[in-house]
Parts: sequence; C-alpha cells; structure tokens
Amino acid sequence: MTTAVLAVQGAFAEHEAKLAKLGEKVVELRQAADLDQPFDRLVLPGGESTTQGKLLAELGMLEAMRERIAAGMPTLATCAGLILLARRLDAHDDKGTPRLATLDVLVQRNAYGRQLGSFHTNLQFKGLGEVPATFIRAPFVMEAGADVDVLAAHEGRIVAVRQGGQIGLAFHPELDADPRVHELFLSL
Ligand code: GLN
Repeated sequence: MTTAVLAVQGAFAEHEAKLAKLGEKVVELRQAADLDQPFDRLVLPGGESTTQGKLLAELGMLEAMRERIAAGMPTLATCAGLILLARRLDAHDDKGTPRLATLDVLVQRNAYGRQLGSFHTNLQFKGLGEVPATFIRAPFVMEAGADVDVLAAHEGRIVAVRQGGQIGLAFHPELDADPRVHELFLSL
C-alpha cells in the first residue's frame, strides 16, 4: 500500500522514515500534480498550520484533499495536521485561514503556551495501552462531535481522536521509536 505524506512544510521527513520502516511505500505531496498519482492513505504532519493551510490553498490542493478525506481515505494528522482537519477552531485562533475542516472537533491552538509548551509524557491510548507522546506547542481538542471517538486524553484534555478513517493527534508519534500508532493507521 502507498501513503502520501503532505510535504509542503513541517515535520514530514520523520513520518516518511517511520512509514518506510514499517514497509509502507511513501510518496510526497508537494504540488497539485502529485495528487494524480495513486495512493491509499494520507499523512498530514506537524509544523505551522497557518502556513500549511495557506500553501494548500495557493497550490490548489485543498479541495482535492478534502474530497478524498471526506470520501473515507485513511488520514493520520499530527499537531498542525489536526488543526488543518478541525471543523472548528477556538474563536481566538480562527483567522479564517483555509483548512480541510473534515473532522468534527473544536480545537484550540498552542494550548500549552507558545514557548514552554513542549514536553514528553506517556498516554493511555485506546486499544494500544500506554504510548509515549511528545507534545510541541500542541493544540488540544476542546469538543468532539458525536461521531468522534476519543482515543487519548492528557490531564483531562482530549489529545487523540478518530472519526471514520481520520485519526487526529495533538502529539508527534513520528518522533518516538514506538511504532504502534503508525501501525494502527496502516491497519485502517
Ligand atoms: N503550534 C503549531 C500550529 O498552531 C502546531 C505545532 C506542531 O505542529 N508541532 O500550527
């Protein structure tokens, strides 16, 4: 199977390395034409969500990606990727930047503070048990819709969700050695 990793900005190389290690074929999405090649799944990496959203709109990739995700393509979104997927952002964060808006959650950006918001912890992840989790200026999910399954929380805040084929994570499983979150994604 082939996973397409959005590679316009951010921490895409770490996802690619992790997926390759698990035997997955990886292609990069850098421009609209890259969407024409065959792929089965999609990864939206961490980085800077405002930049990513603007680039997707400018490059003419937003609609085609939204259609595939809405049609059920398995999608793993980490951190900035979760923000891109979120249907709603906290009013304070919502500057009208283009987003995919396919995941029925309300998200707050930089929920742990802009500078001191990076930390490492272990989470109880539904179906996986304890998994290591690295948070980098992470968002969190303030509200999840009725069709959204909560997979993990940290200190009462929702940090991992699934809705159909979409997995949205506030943290970065690609930065830890544990392969289980990516394996879960590849099993969808
Ligand atoms: N703070 C970033 C944003 O709002 C996300 C951080 C990350 O992806 N590590 O886009």
